[in-house]
Amino acid sequence: MKTWFAIPLWQRVIGALILGIAIGYPWGQAGGISFGPLFGYATFEPQDIKIIGDVFIAFIKMLVVPLIFFSLVAGVAAIGDLRKLGSIGWRALLLFVVSGQIAVWLGLALGTFIQPGSGVDTSTIQMGALPDPEPMDWRDTLLNAIPSSPVQVMADVNVLPLIVFSMLIGIGILMAKEEGQPVLKIFDSGSVVMQKVTMIVMELTPFGVFALMAWVAGTLGLDALAALGKLVALNYIGCLLIIFVMYSAMIKFIAKLPVIDFFRGIIDAIAVSYSTASSNATLPVTLRCAERNLGISKPVASFVISLGATVNMNGTAMYLGLATLFGAQIFGVDLSWGDYFLIALLGTVGAIGAAGIPGAGLIMMALVFGAVGVPLETIALVAGIDRIMDMMRTTTNVSGDAAVATTVASMTGEIDKAEMISADDV
Ligand code: ASP
Repeated sequence: MKTWFAIPLWQRVIGALILGIAIGYPWGQAGGISFGPLFGYATFEPQDIKIIGDVFIAFIKMLVVPLIFFSLVAGVAAIGDLRKLGSIGWRALLLFVVSGQIAVWLGLALGTFIQPGSGVDTSTIQMGALPDPEPMDWRDTLLNAIPSSPVQVMADVNVLPLIVFSMLIGIGILMAKEEGQPVLKIFDSGSVVMQKVTMIVMELTPFGVFALMAWVAGTLGLDALAALGKLVALNYIGCLLIIFVMYSAMIKFIAKLPVIDFFRGIIDAIAVSYSTASSNATLPVTLRCAERNLGISKPVASFVISLGATVNMNGTAMYLGLATLFGAQIFGVDLSWGDYFLIALLGTVGAIGAAGIPGAGLIMMALVFGAVGVPLETIALVAGIDRIMDMMRTTTNVSGDAAVATTVASMTGEIDKAEMISADDV
């Protein structure tokens, strides 16, 4: 037992992934195994192990409503706090929003042009999570986005009105000023509690991943594995483009600072974020890099980076766009331009609502999928490979926080440029 927990979670997950494929594929090819008289000569097929994965996914679904509700309310209230920082706050907010939009559209573009999910035969998958969405006209969409009964909205896991409701509560808290503080405390503390609950659920990941990969490899075969491989590759390409093109451009053209020195300064944060897959766990390291290696003043670093760790997630936004298209292609769901805009909007909201912990992006997929009619079964397909993608998303998220903090600090004279350039001695 002790040795199990002594192995870092990501290593357990990758081990489970490899084992799942190694067992599932030959198992599927053999058409099942029979355990003899003990089990009444019943044949066990890869489909039968899926129940373990389904339990894992059911726990993930359990988290969707409370996690969105608590962290979005707390997130909106925290963004409102940016006002206190005046011009620094508004600049940071603008960079968060613009970079998030570019990221989510990049994910949509990669998914549209490369089509990672096409060519997989999913007719063997038993569906049941989502009915085919009825085509709605704009009046229905508008009415559906209004949380006429907040409790009903939560019970139905109806994400669009849930987001509207959460944002309104966040704004209400800000407007209530002092009197809103006790309620804000409940939401802040609630979101920390939900993060802990998520971490408990994430301990099930190795088992879920093993079962889901054995099922995918055994029932859908090599086509599905190739599609998942393409998704992982695109996730990495998208994240690397964000880091090396978007952030480099931000540092070079807006902050007017040397790009190499920026990346050299955040190398520790890159390493820690990649291995922990958690922006929150990396926060102390990111702050240290920002202050000591990049020379950003303490108030700007602590404010922009701590807030960024929960609301600025460009890797997650890009992935939400990409994964939604993947699911749509796998299950043959046609998406309109209107859907693309809805995905772009929800991808950004999902990135704000996602907590900086491992697997948060996976949970937020339910938010985007539900709104555009992509079956939730997609989550079962990609859950097995999520951790590998999460590591890269998190590195992108964390580098983005540092890039925005550096840019804002440079624009407002809150950075010691000499310190940034001579950071090697640190
Ligand atoms: N794990 C990511 C983070 O902490 C969030 C995600 O799952 O996309 O930044």
